[in-house]
Amino acid sequence: MSSGTLTRRALLFGSVDDRGPRPPWSVIGEDFGTRCTGCDACIHACPERVLRRAADGLPRFDPSAGSGECTFCGACAAACTTGALDSGQARPWSLRAKVGEGCLPASGVVCASCREVCPELAIRVPPGGRGAAWIDAARCTGCGACVGVCPAGVVALSEAEEACA
Ligand code: SF4
Ligand code: SF4
Ligand code: SF4
Repeated sequence: MSSGTLTRRALLFGSVDDRGPRPPWSVIGEDFGTRCTGCDACIHACPERVLRRAADGLPRFDPSAGSGECTFCGACAAACTTGALDSGQARPWSLRAKVGEGCLPASGVVCASCREVCPELAIRVPPGGRGAAWIDAARCTGCGACVGVCPAGVVALSEAEEACA
C-alpha cells in the first residue's frame, strides 16, 4: 500500500501489518521476536478474531478486524506454547486510546459512537458539539472497541506513555 492510499486511521495507528500492537500479554521488546514461531495458534484461538498475521509472519492486534474489541479472555495466551505470550505478566499491555484531530463534536457535529461502545465507560463527549471526545486514560484498557467505530477515523491506540486523555 502506498502512503497515498493510507486511510487517516492507518496513519494514526500505523500500518496494522507492520506496526500494530502485538497480541495482549506479548513479552516485551526483542524477546517476542525470538520466542514467537509464527505458529498462528493465538490467531486461531481468538474468539473475537482481532489477531492477524502481519507482513513479518508474526501476529498483531488489529481493531479493524473481527469484532474490533479484545475482551482479554486470555485464549491467545493460553494457546501460546513458546512463551511469546505470557499471561503471568501483571497487565496484558499498556495500550490506551487517544482521540486525534478531527473529532466530529469538536466542529458541532453530533456523534458519540466511541462512547457508546466503550465497555469501561472511559469516554466523555461534551454535549451539543462543544468539544472533542475525551478519554480517561486511567479507565481505558486499550481494548480497541472505540477505534473502528469512529466515523472520522481519528481514534487510535498507542502506548500509555504516549497517550493523553
Ligand atoms: S485476549 Fe481473547 S479477545 Fe483478546 S486477543 Fe487474546 S484471544 Fe482475542
Ligand atoms: S501462539 Fe505464540 S508462538 Fe504462536 S504465533 Fe501466537 S504468539 Fe507466536
Ligand atoms: S480502547 Fe479504551 S476508550 Fe476505547 S473502548 Fe476500549 S476501554 Fe474504552
